[in-house]
Amino acid sequence: MLAVQQLESGYGESVILRNVTLKVKPGQVVCLLGRNGVGKSTLMKSIMGLLKARRGTVSFAGADLTKRAPGQRARKGIGYVPQGREIFGQLSVYENILLGLEASRDGGKEIPEEAIAKFPVLPTMYDRRGGDLSGGQQQQLAFARALASKPEVLLLDEPCEGIQPSIVDDIRDVIRGIKADGKTAILLVEQSLEFVKSVGDYFYILEKGAVAWEGGLDSLSDDVIKKYLTV
Ligand code: ATP
Ligand code: MG
Repeated sequence: MLAVQQLESGYGESVILRNVTLKVKPGQVVCLLGRNGVGKSTLMKSIMGLLKARRGTVSFAGADLTKRAPGQRARKGIGYVPQGREIFGQLSVYENILLGLEASRDGGKEIPEEAIAKFPVLPTMYDRRGGDLSGGQQQQLAFARALASKPEVLLLDEPCEGIQPSIVDDIRDVIRGIKADGKTAILLVEQSLEFVKSVGDYFYILEKGAVAWEGGLDSLSDDVIKKYLTV
């Protein structure tokens, strides 16, 4: 359903991703692993269209999106929670979620129930400024903003980064809940192996901007972890 084929991209003169091929099938939680700086966020941005592909293709639900702008990709059903969350601090919680709604395919004007169902605290804070929320609350807001467009695939870039351990369990529940609902596949970048093993169906490991390994949970052995992930 989401298919990245032989993708090459980078910044200015520097090539970061080389020949990356990856798939996310409906209902799957696919995890993207790799040490710091290998290109995980660059791949997420390239899938979302924030960075142009120099070679290769990004396609989704059978449509080639390689030349499409980020907004068009969002309207095709790709949702994105960026690393660092990127909440608009001056806008209210409500306005932040409305921004996600802009990308909805059905042109909906109301925040859909499923966007906030997993975050009951958010509607009680609609008038507060995004910047005044705690890190964990901002992460919930970033999820709700992305879910507002009812995406078919959700890109999550390090949703647990800088989040208190108690909230990490909540995020795990949210990811499991999205998976159980069965409407949205997930491509997850996350540093914690324990976390990805607890939610992931399939794993890709990037090294120096290329896919160095891929496989299911059973084959994610200690040797693989040592070779590609241990710092
Ligand atoms: P992390 O685990 O730290 O989030 P990452 O795997 O997400 O790392 P990227 O952020 O994709 O890595 O960065 C890959 C490479 O691209 C790094 O060498 C980084 O310095 C470089 N890079 C990232 N963003 C830019 C940018 N805006 N301009 C130039 N180079 C960049
Ligand atoms: Mg990153």
